[in-house]
Amino acid sequence: MRPDPLGYLNTELDTLKEQGLFRHLRILDGEQKAKASFDHHQVVNLSSNNYLGLTTHPRLREAALEATRRLGVGSGSVRTIAGTMDIHMELERRLAAFKKTEAVVVFQSGFAANAGTVAAVLSKDDFVVSDELNHASIIDGSRLSRATIKVFPHKNVDAARQILKDLPADRKKLLITDGVFSMDGDLGALPALCKAAEEFGAIMMVDDAHASGVFGKNGRGTIDHFNMHGRVDIQVGTLSKAIGALGGYVAGSKGLIEFLYHRARPFLFSTSHPPSVAASCIAALDVLEQEPQIIERLWENTRFFKAGLVALGFNTGVSESPITPVIAGEGALAMKLSDRLFAEGVFAQGIAFPTVARDKARVRTIVTATHTQDELQYALDVFAKVGRELAII
Ligand SMILES: *Cc1c(COP(=O)(O)O)cnc(C)c1O
Repeated sequence: MRPDPLGYLNTELDTLKEQGLFRHLRILDGEQKAKASFDHHQVVNLSSNNYLGLTTHPRLREAALEATRRLGVGSGSVRTIAGTMDIHMELERRLAAFKKTEAVVVFQSGFAANAGTVAAVLSKDDFVVSDELNHASIIDGSRLSRATIKVFPHKNVDAARQILKDLPADRKKLLITDGVFSMDGDLGALPALCKAAEEFGAIMMVDDAHASGVFGKNGRGTIDHFNMHGRVDIQVGTLSKAIGALGGYVAGSKGLIEFLYHRARPFLFSTSHPPSVAASCIAALDVLEQEPQIIERLWENTRFFKAGLVALGFNTGVSESPITPVIAGEGALAMKLSDRLFAEGVFAQGIAFPTVARDKARVRTIVTATHTQDELQYALDVFAKVGRELAII
């Protein structure tokens, strides 16, 4: 028999099992909602990024159906050949107006937007100056660019400034931060980083995936929240989280966007969105503009749930957003916490090394605008019970 050249993968999986870190995928039986059924088990769902409940919003659903009937299910090509439909252009125009930038390019995902953009704007003689907790897609894009990667400690602006100061003046430098950090829910130090970028002539880039639809007026993101309009050269947002559908985008100058049309590899070499996705995203922008009260509900729920966790004595870290981690410590304990919560009807995903530091394993909770207070209170009661059982509180 032929020896399995991938046999070493099973050894790695066995190690994960021994460490209590092997995970089965949870299967969602129906719609992605605040109360949902995973693995045939009804739970209060604190694990989605569906901040505003738009995954099942009637206006988005209708828009997707209408676009499918009118335009079919696929675009049939990459954007640069035959796959640019007028509905793609309409979405880009709408997003540019929403973000108050000259232009926008939409990618298949936020991951593709980050990785494709960083890799396109830099080359091997350049530098990326990056927060240590920046998203994986930024790290991958940086590696693909072949630029030299300089990492600064989380939100340590002095360290970032020192790095920028020491870099050769005649090389391109990209200073990059998440707007909202996805594991801790804290905000990037935008005002101070923008200032540093200006002082040292760096390109400023912000990945606003978890801020899109959540922060700023009508959900315009952290650039709006901090009033940094005009000071961030490359803004990345996602259409896959609060916007409820799928995709990512880059907002910036006309020159930047036209350059990405020519050089961003996911744009050139991967098929564009089905018309239904673009239509859903356009409808989502209508909702953000016409029903901003759903964002207010998200924040009311966030305040209620955070205060409840803190009152129970959990370590919720440094969150400033609807992402609230419940830090347990060791990886195995966080996974146990997540499993016990699930058995009691609350879904909060366990997250361990290498996604977070070894001693900072946690379950991550994300409330949405569509959770009822009763559902959130139920979740708090379960957290209290399980937290005591596992001696976390
Ligand atoms: C989720 C996320 C992305 C990727 O967005 P997708 O649209 O899901 O591909 C990028 N950056 C950050 C910070 C994220 O949290």
